[in-house]
Amino acid sequence: MTRQMLLLEVCCPSCNAALTEGQKVHLDAYIKDTHQEANLYLSAVFGEYTIDCDVAIPEGAIVQFRCPVCEQSLMLEIPCRLCGAPMASLNIVNGGSVEFCSRRGCKGHALGGFGDVDQMMTLVNNMFRTPHD
Ligand SMILES: [Zn+2]
Ligand SMILES: [Zn+2]
Repeated sequence: MTRQMLLLEVCCPSCNAALTEGQKVHLDAYIKDTHQEANLYLSAVFGEYTIDCDVAIPEGAIVQFRCPVCEQSLMLEIPCRLCGAPMASLNIVNGGSVEFCSRRGCKGHALGGFGDVDQMMTLVNNMFRTPHD
């Protein structure tokens, strides 16, 4: 039996560009603390929390995410429940959206792992609710 890997197929909320490249989600990032622009790759594999970035992101630094295609900010006005940093948001191709904390190392989602089991289940449900048309 093979376990199917859950890949998050995400797209930009502004321009709808697909941002999942292979098993990674490509985003533009601006690291506030160090004033650096970077290409950042989140793992698109569900349950995997690795990130690749071409510059070092200090633990606890806040990263501002942008769409690499249209340059629109992905940041929300909503603060992270765990640490108060702004949340970022991406649309899921199959419907719904995923929000994640912009602070490196925070347990509030993609940059540190999905911290909330309920939210994770909602996300899984959204991903499996694929319409067959
Ligand atoms: Zn875009
Ligand atoms: Zn947080």
